[in-house]
Amino acid sequence: MRVATEVVELLVKSAGTWLFEGHQFGLSDREWMALRFLARANRFSRTPSALAIFLGTTRSGTSEIAAQLRKKELVIPEPSAEDRRSITLCVTPQGRKFLDRDPINALRDRIAALTIDDRSQLRHSLRRVLVQSDVAQREHNTDICSGCIFLVEDGARSERQFKCRRFRKAIASKETALLCTYFEEPGSRDLAAKTA
Ligand code: SF4
Repeated sequence: MRVATEVVELLVKSAGTWLFEGHQFGLSDREWMALRFLARANRFSRTPSALAIFLGTTRSGTSEIAAQLRKKELVIPEPSAEDRRSITLCVTPQGRKFLDRDPINALRDRIAALTIDDRSQLRHSLRRVLVQSDVAQREHNTDICSGCIFLVEDGARSERQFKCRRFRKAIASKETALLCTYFEEPGSRDLAAKTA
């Protein structure tokens, strides 16, 4: 139990990297979180509602965050190709450049300096723990599309193509490496039933 407690304490300590009072380079921690997410999210998740789910805020709270990012020209709204009633929040080239100053970069670089085995093990362990916590709390679990239960290979084409069974849309191979707010972990429904 002692090791588990120490791990939790270390995680809490590392949270100081991305949770802070005030601003860093002109953005609050939530604004950084939103910009970081939008730069890595797939086309279904770059909407105000998906961003609200990811941030765990209300729609009005998310609108304020998006308005700040738009004011600084880090994000621009574009009509959604998926849903005409919605907009897509697109990170501008200026926004992508701005991410070089992201406060989490120092922590990322220290993790990048670990051996590949250590990095993979850390990712695997953290993901397992977080998935179980998310499922138990019935929260959305944003993660990378390639591991989602809804993703299937679309054998109808010659090059490697995929399909999302949730949205019934084609997914290009490079899109499978992006984040999705609607991700579901294989086995999560069984786990959810067990923890109900
Ligand atoms: S397969 Fe899953 S993660 Fe990928 S776009 Fe569909 S719902 Fe999102």
